This record gives sequence, structure tokens and C-alpha cells, in this order.
Amino acid sequence: MNALDKISYGLYIVSSTLDGKDNACINNSFGLLTAQPEVVFCCVNKESLTHDMIQKSGLFTVSVIDQTADFDLFRHFGFHSGRDTDKFSDFSDFRRDENGVVYVTQSTNAFVSAKVLSSQDLGTHTLFIAKVCEKGELSNHPSATYEFYHAKIKPKGQATQAAGAETVWQCKICGYKYVGETLPPDYICPLCKHPASDFEKLEPST
Ligand code: FE
Repeated sequence: MNALDKISYGLYIVSSTLDGKDNACINNSFGLLTAQPEVVFCCVNKESLTHDMIQKSGLFTVSVIDQTADFDLFRHFGFHSGRDTDKFSDFSDFRRDENGVVYVTQSTNAFVSAKVLSSQDLGTHTLFIAKVCEKGELSNHPSATYEFYHAKIKPKGQATQAAGAETVWQCKICGYKYVGETLPPDYICPLCKHPASDFEKLEPST
């Protein structure tokens, strides 16, 4: 734990639509900057397809994840890139805002639709500052925080136990732990389905 871990974060699904393609990703860096006019910020990782779509379209939506969310929602939108998979091909719980931009309605209690005013390059991420063009409540369930996710939603890391082994490999995507001297090269994470290349060897604890 360090000082920065004390900061509270909400959990959101940030979506964008460009040239008929919809995409979305999980985000924990969204908030209201000013109420008059209503201006929000959203900081998005440059590696995500959603990032590029927001940059090109200047439009995005944010759905606020509530406490009814299950791990599958995070797996669906958080553990895969829209460059490899169409996240909306097998997902029907969404609507569109007045600009035609998709927003997720499953286990979310509100949505905000925004138009980018300016952006700042932060290296790994881009900070988008945007004006609210539409908003709506979707349920009365309390919002999920990052802390709530770790306490109640994320499965507890039940490590696969190999006899006598003490080396731990951890999935960098979801945190799942595998115990064994060597990680099989064809190993697939049982939680997020990412391959062995997304695991890292943890330093032994003393
Ligand atoms: Fe994983």
C-alpha cells in the first residue's frame, strides 16, 4: 500500500462508435470537473481501441458500473482488446445516445454522453476533457468502486497447486495465480482466458 492506493476510484465502461463499429473498455478514471457548464474528464489508455475511436470521433459515452455487476462483465469488456474481438457481437444490453454512440446498460446505473473539448497527451494515456451532451439514470443500485470490485466481484485467486511447487506465476491481466515450477507454454488463464505469455513470475515472498 502507498499513498496513491488510498484514492477512491469508480468503475466505468467507456464506449465509442466510429464508422459503424462499436467498442468499449473498462475504465476507472472518469469524473465531473465543473457543473456549470457540465464538463467531465476521462483518461484512456492509448493501447485501447476505444482510445483511438474517441480521438477520431470526438465522442464517447460512459456507463457507471453498479454493485450488481458480475465478473463476466469485467471479463467481457476489460480483458480483451476490441482490435481482436467485437465486444458487441454477442452482447445485447446496450442503447445508443442521440449521436448514435453505444452505451452499456447491463449492471450500470447511469450513463453520460460527452463531446471532446480538448485532450492532453500524458504518455501512456490521453486525458480527454469533454462537455456533457446527454445523461440519464439507468437504475437505483449503488455504484461500484474499485475497492468494491476487489472485495466482492473479483474471484479470489485460488492458485492451481502443483505438489511441492512454490513458484508463483501471476496473470498480468486479471491477477490469477498459478503455482508450479514451470508454467506450461500452452497454459490458458482460467479466469480471463489470456495465454501463458501474459503471466509473470512473482518474486518469492519471505
Ligand atoms: Fe487472467
